[in-house]
Amino acid sequence: MYDIIIIGGGPAGLTAALYAGRARLNTLILEQMALGGQMLLTDSIENFPGFPGGISTDKLTQAMEKQARELKVDIESDQATKIIKDSGFKVFGNEGGYQSKSLIIACGASYRKLGIPGEDRLAKRGVSYCATCDGPLFKGKEILAIGGGDKAVEEAILLSKYAKKVTLIHRREQLRASKILQERLFNNKKIEVLWRTVPQEVMGDNKVEALRVKDLIKDQIKEIPAQGIFIFIGIQPNTHFLEGFLNLDKEGFITTDEFTASSQEGVFAAGDCRRKSLNQVITACSDGAVAAFNAGKFLETNK
Ligand code: NAP
Repeated sequence: MYDIIIIGGGPAGLTAALYAGRARLNTLILEQMALGGQMLLTDSIENFPGFPGGISTDKLTQAMEKQARELKVDIESDQATKIIKDSGFKVFGNEGGYQSKSLIIACGASYRKLGIPGEDRLAKRGVSYCATCDGPLFKGKEILAIGGGDKAVEEAILLSKYAKKVTLIHRREQLRASKILQERLFNNKKIEVLWRTVPQEVMGDNKVEALRVKDLIKDQIKEIPAQGIFIFIGIQPNTHFLEGFLNLDKEGFITTDEFTASSQEGVFAAGDCRRKSLNQVITACSDGAVAAFNAGKFLETNK
């Protein structure tokens, strides 16, 4: 019986582990893939305080893991598939079962799909959701990046290091990305922005050849030739396994109070799986610290 099981080993889960470990709580992290979560989908982070010029996400993840391991936090590779309330909580995984007195859900989020024809069929054949992973495959090619948030702009800039040309396609006439990223985008000669353009179909037989789009300015359908289409249109929480166990909002994010407490007593949520106003590595870490602190208080009052 653990004091705390943390589901997810991204920055939120690893920070929760750091705080739980320092409180000498018997803690387990369950991580289904690799520690680091969505941090691993990008090369470096420039807005984590204390690292002028940025820090590599590999280095930051390794440092966070080291801190957790030094505090004797257990880390298991398993996917939580179901949770029930028992005399505490029972977490069912693909590899086994785990029990704890409290839980911190830090299961993060995944990329959102456009849901247009051709997107699934040509996935890994030119359609991608990760510039760090797949960008090097497109050296000297023409690439389209879809979206207008931080991720799309950051990744379009990264892709421009490999590609002959990157076209950023955005459905409105204004980006929601931070101003510093926008400045870099507009100063990059290899990147063109197509405004008010909506993707309709990914074209190609065995590999991507073009994107059919609707140009809302001219009210025209056209095809833009490209070998790679990178889609960065936001995130969706990895919370399917929590349906019926916790209150989720209509998009599936866990609703919590300011103490990160969920609708289930003894269960806290941290990071991108939680409904909040700013999704950043620093706010994920902040959530993790708050969740571990309040899980500790819960354990103290429910001894
Ligand atoms: P986001 O901020 O939610 O932006 C999603 C973008 O995709 C928006 O521009 C949106 O257009 C567009 N979009 C959504 N659905 C679409 C559709 N069906 N067709 C076409 N376009 C669509 O998501 P994100 O950029 O992935 O970032 C997720 C979170 O991580 C954000 O909180 C972000 O700030 C954070 N993040 C931060 C950094 C950083 O600080 N360096 C880096 C990466 C991510 P509209 O603008 O028209 O809605």
